[in-house]
Formats: sequence, C-alpha cells, structure tokens
Amino acid sequence: MADARTEPQESTPLATPRTERRVSARIAAIAESATLAVDAKAKALKAAGEPVIGFGAGEPDFPTPAHIVDAAVEACRDPKMHKYTPAAGLPELREAIAAKTERDSGLEVGASQVLVTNGGKHAVYNTFATLLDPGDEVLLPAPYWTTYPEPIALAGGVPVVLRTDESNGFRVTVDQLEAAVTERTKALVFVSPSNPTGAVYPREEVEAIGRWAAERGIWVVTDEIYEHLTYGDHAFSSMPVLVPELADRCVVLNGVAKTYAMTGWRVGWMIGPADVIKAAANLQSHATSNVANVSQRAALAAVSGPLDAVAEMRTAFARRGETMHRMLSAIDGVTVLEPQGAFYAFPNLSAHLNRPIRGRTASTTVELCTILLEEAKVAIVPGEAFDAPGYARMSFALGDDDLAEGVQRIADLLAE
Ligand code: PMP
Repeated sequence: MADARTEPQESTPLATPRTERRVSARIAAIAESATLAVDAKAKALKAAGEPVIGFGAGEPDFPTPAHIVDAAVEACRDPKMHKYTPAAGLPELREAIAAKTERDSGLEVGASQVLVTNGGKHAVYNTFATLLDPGDEVLLPAPYWTTYPEPIALAGGVPVVLRTDESNGFRVTVDQLEAAVTERTKALVFVSPSNPTGAVYPREEVEAIGRWAAERGIWVVTDEIYEHLTYGDHAFSSMPVLVPELADRCVVLNGVAKTYAMTGWRVGWMIGPADVIKAAANLQSHATSNVANVSQRAALAAVSGPLDAVAEMRTAFARRGETMHRMLSAIDGVTVLEPQGAFYAFPNLSAHLNRPIRGRTASTTVELCTILLEEAKVAIVPGEAFDAPGYARMSFALGDDDLAEGVQRIADLLAE
C-alpha cells in the first residue's frame, strides 16, 4: 500500500493556509539567550569604537592552556580524526572523563555512563529531552541560569520555579522542595556553584537535598560545571557522592568550558545511569552525530592533564571577586553577597529603580541595564534573565583594570 506520507492526494490543497504559522509555536516561544545577547551588544558597541566594558559573558578571559591547543593541532593532522567517530564520544575520552570524575569529585562511573556533547548546554538539552514526558514537572530554584527553562519546556516539561533571595543566600531548602512537589514532579535542577548567584551549597545542605530527592524518587540533574571554582572556605561537593542511593536517578552535567578556559571548543558531557545515557546517545546520533573530533582530542588532553591552569585562574577570580564585592558594596543602596563560587556577583540594584538617573528613570532592571550601557558604557545582565528582577549579574572573569574601571563607572553614575 502506498505510504500516505509520501504520496500526496490529488485533492491536497496547494494554496497557503490563511493562518500560516511560519515558525512552530514550540520554537517561537523560545527567547534569545539574554546573556549572549548582552555580550553580543557589548562586543558590537566595542567594535564600533565605543569604550564598552562587558560584564556579560560567562567565560574566562584566559586563553586555553598550550598543551590542550597542541593536542588539537596534532589531532588535525591525524586522518582518523577527519572521519565520523562514535556518536557518544571518542571511547578514550569517555574513559578519561570517567577517570577525571572519580579524581575530582569522587564519583565512580564507567565509560558507558558518559555521553560527550557539544558543550555543557547540549548536555542540558539532551538530559531533559531524554528524561521528560509532556506534563512532567521540574523543580527549578531561581535565580536560575537563563538556559534552564527552555529545554525543559521544549521537551514538554513544566518548570516549577522556587524562589530564593539574598536573605537565604540564594539557596533552596528541603521545606521549599517538599511544598512544591506533586505527583507529576519528575526532577530537580541543582546548580552549585551557581550561575548566576555565585552561591555554593554547604555539604550538609547538598546531602539533605539529595536524601530528600532519593526518598521521594525524584531525579536530580546536577550541574557541576563550576566544580573547581570556589573561594575562601566554600567547597564544592557532588550530590551523588554524598548520597550514593541517588545514583540510579541522577544526571551529572559538566564540561571543559569553565575549568580549562575552553568555551569556544564546545565539549561537555552528561553522566548518568547507562540506560539513560544510551537513550540520550540515540537522540544525539540523529541530532549531531559525534562532537568535532579535534575538540574531543583537546578535551582529552584537558581532562587527563594537570589542574594547574585552573588553580591559577581560581586565584585571579578570587581576587577579582573580592574587588567587585568591595566596590559594589560601597555603592549607596546596593547590596551584594560575597561570591562563593563560579565567577559572578549578583547585586541587588532595586534601590536605583524608579528614581531619575541622568534624567532617565528605570522601572525595571532591564531598563536600568540599558541606562548603564548607554550612559556608563558598561554591559551587565539584568536579573529578569534569571527570573530575579531587581538584581543583575556581573561576571568577574575579566581583567583587573577593566573590572575596577567598569564598577567605578557604575558607582559614579549611580551616585549622580
Ligand atoms: N551550566 C551552567 C550553570 C553554565 O553557566 C554554563 C555556561 N554558561 C553551562 C552549563 C554550559 O556551558 P557550555 O555550553 O559553554 O559548555
């Protein structure tokens, strides 16, 4: 019998339907990444000769360490790397990621539990596409990284936002989780150190949240991409290590971007139960096939090499985070928690809303950030992008001089 999908009937109307939908409703509902948009605007203004200082991008200002770049150059010359390789990742890289995970966080996994993805972002996408059915609810503590709700919604899931603020250190509590859980709750998103707030959950809170999820039978998607970037007494702890009974319902997300200054190479990974990883690899085999081999070989050198470069970067970020915290705290009406991890400060700017600044008045932090960009030539990301109006995110992954100059410009403008 003819396949109806390939044999259009003679009577099929060819005219364009009156209410033509050019972009699907699913995709039309996606907003542009606000963090990338702010960064692009700042870079465009800079290219046009404006002295803009960008606090928008979440990327280290350091170059990728030389031994990693060398490995990529070598891979370029290897004809095997010019061909398709297994969709789930180079076997040696999957092995090395498993070994690195045990070395760095203490989690023991096999290579079959690792899927190499096109950056951490793609690991986030694959995870929700693989775990969620339409209507499944995902507990999402806010302020959250701007990307999280989109792949949840694309998979038909429903983000259930749980508010936190500076009074509780931007950390969600078990009581809040318990109050939000329903029979449709499938998963919890857990990000520590956090983008955008810089918060790091203490070990006992990570454990309590993990135990709660394990008892409730709720999946945890834990994003460990900032594992190496913690400051002072704050330390990273991996939830499935503290709560081993979570192992069968836990996906760990990570990547080389932040640890090795490799944002442009686009290598991340997801680690989870073998059945979930196999299913996600099937999805990836149709979506992208293997991640670029040259990037994978660079990532292999990164994860199997030393952590010296990240230790140096951490020292620089710690110093910059302190400077930013000190300078922001000195601005009248601005409150800001000391950054504990990642490379972001998350000041509360709400005292500067609804008052004139150079004859202009902002009623939202989106508007305030526009005024700061146009009047002070400083690009910061409004809290609305992270479901936290009244706040803004400022990356301190930029040079010390630019950082001090940029925060001073904000201070001067807000003091007028
Ligand atoms: N998770 C978090 C919390 C992040 O901040 C980022 C980068 N902004 C990522 C994942 C993804 O990083 P990438 O796609 O560059 O590997």
